[in-house]
This record gives sequence, structure tokens and C-alpha cells, in this order.
Amino acid sequence: MAKKTANLAVISNNSFEAAKAVNLQHYDISSALQTSLEFSELVAIFSKKIEHFLPHSAYVYSNPEFGLEIKHGVFTQHYCNYALKVEQQQLGELKLTRHYRFSESDLKLLESLLCCLIYPLKNATLYHQALKMAYTDPLTQTNNRASFDDSVKREMSLAMRGNKALSVLFLDIDHFKSINDQYGHSCGDVALTAVAKWIKENLRSSDLVFRFGGEEFVILLSDTDIEGAKLLAERIRTSIEQHTLAYDMNAIKVTASLGISSLCTEDTLDSFISRADNAMYQAKRGGRNQVVFAA
Ligand code: GH3
Ligand code: MG
Ligand code: MG
Repeated sequence: MAKKTANLAVISNNSFEAAKAVNLQHYDISSALQTSLEFSELVAIFSKKIEHFLPHSAYVYSNPEFGLEIKHGVFTQHYCNYALKVEQQQLGELKLTRHYRFSESDLKLLESLLCCLIYPLKNATLYHQALKMAYTDPLTQTNNRASFDDSVKREMSLAMRGNKALSVLFLDIDHFKSINDQYGHSCGDVALTAVAKWIKENLRSSDLVFRFGGEEFVILLSDTDIEGAKLLAERIRTSIEQHTLAYDMNAIKVTASLGISSLCTEDTLDSFISRADNAMYQAKRGGRNQVVFAA
């Protein structure tokens, strides 16, 4: 085949018919692919299992739905590229490369073998979609409290092991009850969604935002010391203050109080979090719409 593949061939469940001549290779590959629900493992297993019939030097699997781009091997000049889908569900793209061309019969074999991969990829997709839902707050589309409990432990142990900075930011919307009281609960919901959006607009992709409770958000900032956290907290505070929420014919102003702490070597989960929480309450007592950092 030519160096470049102009159009992506689509491997779907319709192609499964073509692979009905199920033989031992397919059986072996399918069995191995039943052992995992992780995209990276599935693609690695597939690559290893087909290596013998279809030598390749590298692969890339990309899946925009889950923000994945998994690369492995040494990239060379000839490649083939497949968009994978089953029952209208997109399952990502797989690209194989090697230093000599893929013949028509290679491609035919690959297409037949790819049929073993699509249902395991579909299972992985359903599993990860369910995980995502279980960890997402439906109103604000931020991570939820259950997700925070897992993430903070993981981030703390990563930071401590790698001797890296980690900061946490507690944010509570000021006088939120009066928005509900004055304009109704639906307006309160709109305000919560808007604040979540304004927070996200100020974050890096590695920062994690969680809805911790009713009108309280927590942001985990990996690789960020207290000075970096202060700058970001102030940026978020200003951004919320400067926006105006339009609801029906009302222009509503929202502010928030923020507390920050940075991880110390002697911290426990509890001490790390409660320092930021206490700092946030100090910001409330200090008059709201401000940032306080814990020593
Ligand atoms: P403070 O400045 O001291 O934080 O005052 P506040 O009014 O923001 O705090 P308070 O704890 O008195 O009230 C929080 C309100 O948030 C009460 C609760 O009804 C409301 N709330 C919690 N979750 C939701 C939600 O999902 N949607 C809406 N609309 N309101 C919510
Ligand atoms: Mg509040
Ligand atoms: Mg609150």
C-alpha cells in the first residue's frame, strides 16, 4: 500500500461477517482480549498477538471520547489506519506502522483480525462510560465527591513519593441561599453550573475540579506550590466576580470565598484538607469574596 492512506477504512460489526471463517488465530486473540477492560492493555495485547502474522514496528491508538492517545514502538514510514466502530458507536482509531509497505493481503488479514478487537473495545467503552458517570456530578459536569475521595489519596501519594508540590483549594459560593430564595432553585442550579464553568476556564488540563457539596467546589492542583495556588485562586475569584449571570430578565452577581493549603511532609489526608477548609471559613468571616491561605 502507498505511504499514506487517504481515507480511513471503517471496521464495524458488519465486517464481522467477513471474518466468519473463525480460525484458531482469531480464537486465541479473542480469548486474550477478554482479560482486560483497559484500552491500553487491549491494544497492547492485540499488537502482540498479531505481531507474528503482521509484523509492525509501532502502533497508535487514539480515542477522543476518553482523551486517549496511546503510542508504542518505533514509528516508520508505511502505515495503515483504521477507524473502529460497532453499532454506530465510535471506538477510536488504530494505526500500525512499519518500514515496508502493507500489501493488499496484509490489509485483508488485518481487517479480519481487527474484528476480534472491536467487541472488547466496545466493552471497555461501556465500562469507562459507566465509571465516568459514577464519578461525575450531573448538574455541573465536574467530578463528584466520590471521585475526590479517590483522587486526593492518589495525588497525595504521588506528590509525597515524587517529592512534588500539591495544593488544594476550597471554594464556597457566597450567600448562595439568597440566590435560591430570590430567583428560585432553577436559577440556583444555573448559577452553580456557571460557576463550575468559570472555574474550569482558569484551570490547566492537569488540575482537577470537584463538586464537594451543595455550593462548594474543591480544586486539586498537582505540581503547584502555595504561591502558584494563590495566583490561581485569585484569578478564579476575580473571574467569578467579573461575570454577570443572566437569568430571565435578571442580572445576577455572584462571588465566592476561597481557602488554600499546600501539602507538607507531615500532612495526613485530614490535616491537608481541613487546613484549606478552615482557610475558606476564615475568608467567610473576613467578609467573603476573598482568598485566604493556610500557613
Ligand atoms: P455563605 O456565604 O455563608 O456560604 O452562605 P450560603 O447561603 O452560600 O450558604 P448556606 O449553607 O446557608 O446555603 C447553601 C444553600 O445552597 C442551601 C442549599 O439549599 C443550596 N443548595 C445546595 N445544593 C444545591 C443545588 O444543587 N441546587 C440549588 N439550587 N441549591 C443548592
Ligand atoms: Mg455558600
Ligand atoms: Mg457551603
